[in-house]
Amino acid sequence: MSSTTRIGLVLFLSSILLLAPPAQSGAGTVTIAGNDATPGAAAVLNLSDGRLILDDIVKAFSLRTSMDLLGERLDLVGDGGSCRLLLDSPLVLSRGLFAVLTSPLDTVGNSLSVPLDFLTKVLPAVIGRAVSLKGEDLMTVGPPGTGSFNGIPIEDLPRHASFIERDHSRPPAVTEKNIRGLRVVVLDPGHGGRSSGAIGKAGTKEKALVLSVVEKLKIMLEDDMGIKVVLTRSADYFVGLKERTAIANNNRADLFVSVHANAAFRERVNGCETYYLSFSASDLEASQLAQVENRALGIDGNLKEGPILEAILWDMAQMSFINESGQVASRVQKSMASSLNVRNRGVRQAPLAVLVGARMPAILVEIGFITNPAEEINLNRDTYQTRIARALFDAIADYNRALIRGEVRTDGQ
Ligand SMILES: [Zn+2]
Repeated sequence: MSSTTRIGLVLFLSSILLLAPPAQSGAGTVTIAGNDATPGAAAVLNLSDGRLILDDIVKAFSLRTSMDLLGERLDLVGDGGSCRLLLDSPLVLSRGLFAVLTSPLDTVGNSLSVPLDFLTKVLPAVIGRAVSLKGEDLMTVGPPGTGSFNGIPIEDLPRHASFIERDHSRPPAVTEKNIRGLRVVVLDPGHGGRSSGAIGKAGTKEKALVLSVVEKLKIMLEDDMGIKVVLTRSADYFVGLKERTAIANNNRADLFVSVHANAAFRERVNGCETYYLSFSASDLEASQLAQVENRALGIDGNLKEGPILEAILWDMAQMSFINESGQVASRVQKSMASSLNVRNRGVRQAPLAVLVGARMPAILVEIGFITNPAEEINLNRDTYQTRIARALFDAIADYNRALIRGEVRTDGQ
């Protein structure tokens, strides 16, 4: 390229820059009209790069909020209903249906932000009033009783719609149908670090207890079955729920076993139980709503007798392994109940919140109630922990034999 041509090119490029309209600052405000239900509330929402600070919306419409312990799931409750948002997900659950936002719930500094279409797609369901947007700067709120929600049912969502791939992450592994038995098992000791999980009267922490059980189980699986075992954490540190299933997916695990200890408000509640996925949005919303209401009364959690529901986050991907997960769960539950001599609370299907999840059969085991004084004493005993690990091992070995013999039904796939 000659110097003249080069100069010409530079001039050409700079003229494009000069002619281009000034870059949009991306900042503005949305004026709220008709919000007579919340006197004294701010009449504008600050808009930056097409996003709104969620807390501004919460204040403007006097919504109640409740976030799970891990800070990944947020429920909003208003006069018209509730909705559930998940960090990094564009999906919002309300009235048993999903709205898909143009971009995910995200953090900006210490605040959560949502895209502008949250106002029209989700807010009406929560405040019970219609919302219309004129351009990007005027929002008009209708009278009570006009808030509708055009959500879509789970079966109509694009598969893995909840999966937001991060730039630095490897693409999720696809697990082939397993015909040769278990090769890789990922064991997930619940909680860790700042998340202690349930704490017993005598001070037993769930996070320490479940790690101890999982370490014993790991050795059994490796030594007796020659299976590769990966732990989602091997010491007392925090691991996010998404990371846990990502570890399983990236290791192409054939089975994911999350181990927890349970808690209940009534001390006498005891026993072991095994969960696998279910999707029952209305139950989920109802139970979460009850928790929000109880908290407002100063009572933490759910008044109903029974375990406090764990903040279990499963992905829709798990739905395709629901049959196998159920078969693992029933083996594990049977084995634990018979060898531990505790109340058999059975196999249960856990409420689902949609997030990045396991792409393999996956179960969650509640090995006992840390809030039951007698069970807490047992759970602290090394011999009892070994019995739990052995019971889990026996069930996994039995499942493995069934896999090799081709006896595991996979008709859910
Ligand atoms: Zn737990």
